[in-house]
Formats: sequence, C-alpha cells, structure tokens
Amino acid sequence: MAQVYDCAVIGAGPGGGATAYHLARRGYRVLVLEKESLPRYKPCGGGVSPAVAEWFDFDWSPAIATYVDTIRYTWQMEERVDAPLELERPIWMVRRDSFDHFLIKKAVAQGAELRTACPLTALERRGDRWELTTSAGSFTSRYLVAADGAKGPTARWLGLEKRAILIGGAIEVEIVAPVPEPNVAHFEFALVKDGYLWNFPKDNAHSIGIGSFGHRKVDLKTPLARYVESFGLSLAGVTLHGHPLLLWRGPSRLHTEGAILCGEAAGIVDPFTAEGIRPSLYTGVQAAGAIAAALAGEPNALERYSEQIKREWGEDLRWAERLAQVFYAFPRIAYRVGVQQPSATRTMGKILSGSLRYRDVAERAIRRLVGHRR
Ligand SMILES: Cc1cc2nc3c(=O)[nH]c(=O)nc-3n(C[C@H](O)[C@H](O)[C@H](O)COP(=O)(O)OP(=O)(O)OC[C@H]3O[C@@H](n4cnc5c(N)ncnc54)[C@H](O)[C@@H]3O)c2cc1C
Repeated sequence: MAQVYDCAVIGAGPGGGATAYHLARRGYRVLVLEKESLPRYKPCGGGVSPAVAEWFDFDWSPAIATYVDTIRYTWQMEERVDAPLELERPIWMVRRDSFDHFLIKKAVAQGAELRTACPLTALERRGDRWELTTSAGSFTSRYLVAADGAKGPTARWLGLEKRAILIGGAIEVEIVAPVPEPNVAHFEFALVKDGYLWNFPKDNAHSIGIGSFGHRKVDLKTPLARYVESFGLSLAGVTLHGHPLLLWRGPSRLHTEGAILCGEAAGIVDPFTAEGIRPSLYTGVQAAGAIAAALAGEPNALERYSEQIKREWGEDLRWAERLAQVFYAFPRIAYRVGVQQPSATRTMGKILSGSLRYRDVAERAIRRLVGHRR
C-alpha cells in the first residue's frame, strides 16, 4: 500500500523549510514538494534578522554571505546619512538559493522526504486524507501546509485566496562586482513612490532592487537603472527579476479542514519594510507546532494557528501598515524627521531583532510625522 505521509509541505522556501524541519525533528513523516530544482533563485534582497537563530538548534553561518552593522540612507541619492544599527548581532545578508537550500537540507537530515522539480498540480480531499497530484505521480498525506509563496496556487485551491493582503511589486538584480563596504546596506527613498530602493552587499556581489508597496502602479525600471548607475555599475547584460509581494492586511483565516497556509502564501510580509523571511520562518515554526498538535489529536489546532498568527504577529503588522500609510504618503517629511535621526535606525533594528514591537513605537512615530506635516 502507498505510504501515507503525516504532512505534505508545498514549497521549499523559508516557510516550507521551517515547517518541514520542525515536523521531521519531532519524528513525523514529512513530504516536501518543490516546483524547482534546488538550489533555486528567488528574487530577494536577502536581509535577515539574526533573531531567527533562536527558532533553530543549528548554526546558520554556512548560509550567510556577509553581515551588516550600518545602514546608509539617501534622498535623491544625496543627503547621505550613515546610521549604526547598534545591535548585539549584525543583520545577516544571505543568497536565497543557498540559504533556502541549507534549511531544506537540514529538514532532510531530520528525515523529511524532498521531491524537487515536482510541482503540485492538483489536490483533492478524500475523507480525512489529501490526494496530491504532481508530475512525478500521486501522494497521500493526512495534513497539508501550503508554503508555496506569493505565486503559488495552493491557497486558491484550498479556497483561502480571499486573505487580507495588499499586493506590492519588486524587482531585484544581482550584480557581481567588488563590494567596497560589505558591512553597509543602502536604502534610497526619493526615487520611487510607496517604497524604496536598496543595495544589499553579498560576499562578491550587490543585490540591488526596488519595491513599491502601495496601490499606485509605478515605473520601477527607470529608477532602478539610475540607482544602479549611482554605484558605478550597469544593468547591461543583467537579468531583471520581478516578483509580487503579498503584504499583510489581515487578519485572515489561514486554515481549512486538514490544511494551513504559512509564509508568504499566508500574506505575512511586513507592509512597512517588506520583510518576509523572518515572518515566513516564524509561521513555518508555528505551522509545524499546529500540525503536530493536530496529529496528536487536538481538535482545534489549525484554528488556533490562525488565531495565534493574528495575535502574535498580525496585530503588530497592522501597526506597520498604519505607519507605512503615513510614511509613504509624506516621504520627504518622513526622511527629515524620521529616517535621518539615528534613533530611528536603532528602533528599526530593535523591531527587526524582535526586542521591540511596532505597537510600542508606531503611534508616537505617526503622531510626529503628522504633526510635522501641519
Ligand atoms: C525583490 C524582493 C526582495 C525581497 N527582499 C527581502 C529581504 O531583503 N528580506 C526579507 O526578509 N524579505 C524580502 N523579501 C520577501 C521574501 O523574499 C519572501 O517573503 C519570502 O521568500 C517568502 O518565503 P516563503 O517560504 O513563504 O515563499 P518562497 O520563498 O517564495 O518559496 C515558495 C516556494 O514554493 C515553490 N512553489 C511554488 N508553487 C509551487 C507548486 N505548485 N508546487 C511546489 N512548489 C511550489 C516555489 O518554487 C518556491 O521555492 C523580498 C521579496 C522580493 C520580491
């Protein structure tokens, strides 16, 4: 008789990798289906809060390209401000192909079964099982975690596509060239509406990109080219990778019978910073806990997962959303009274490291921004 997996995880990004690792570590039979061959490219700046290390019992350093302790901001590529993050541990800069591959290999080492170049193409609920169709045949599992990212189809197939999200867009390019200051991450705020441009260092390359997180359709390519040139680099011969971003506008229902959404499939991206890796790892860890509880017979475990993500992460992201609305509506004022003040970077560093929540600071920051507008 064909094997019945305890849980099938769709997608081997940070969300799926974290889920698979923590379920396999508990001894469950886990199947991971990944559409691409691994390692695979994912358009991403690759900035990761070191706070994620607390959720895993292994050393991430082989997956980290470089470390950043200073942020350099510009407005119209001028008015430069250098701000030290003043964190106990610097921010990680990762290449997503090696970072994601590193994590899923850890899951495999714990016993998870990984099928690559194996997209899920259909799914069906039969009794208390999932029947999963792929190009490599069919599989059966008791539970399902959809971690197939912003472009994956599984949320829709589960009838959970109506989650509260705002769809943003971003483009990333990787340009191989010496990085003069590998500990500095760059942000530029004037060249794009409702977002920013970045240049994040890698060991021998620049991850340069542009993201816009509002309702307006904006040209991303022209400012990107200008920004790239400001570093003495060129887009000639470089592939531009565009990708949607599913920004949180929750709360949403993230579960249905026998299945939950995690990572960007759950729309967990921060609407202010567009940070998605830490929230995807977080929801992956929580998803594993919820599935383990369900497998142990807890009747409301999946419903509790939706509630928990809303309470412990989503409610704080509502503050990030409010902050984003004011910040990106008045970016010039925000740059002057916010970004240029060293305390703003220290505060963002603390939010990224999890020692401070948006709710602790957003109301005051919004009042300050609105006050300066008058
Ligand atoms: C340009 C850009 C820059 C960004 N920069 C940052 C940053 O610096 N820091 C940060 O924290 N966040 C950043 N983000 C957000 C971050 O990249 C995402 O939020 C994060 O990758 C989400 O992780 P995930 O595991 O949910 O999904 P993903 O990483 O997207 O992984 C989903 C996986 O599912 C697979 N898949 C899809 N469909 C199927 C299918 N049918 N069957 C099987 N597998 C499937 C995909 O191939 C993929 O491997 C950025 C996003 C963009 C677009």
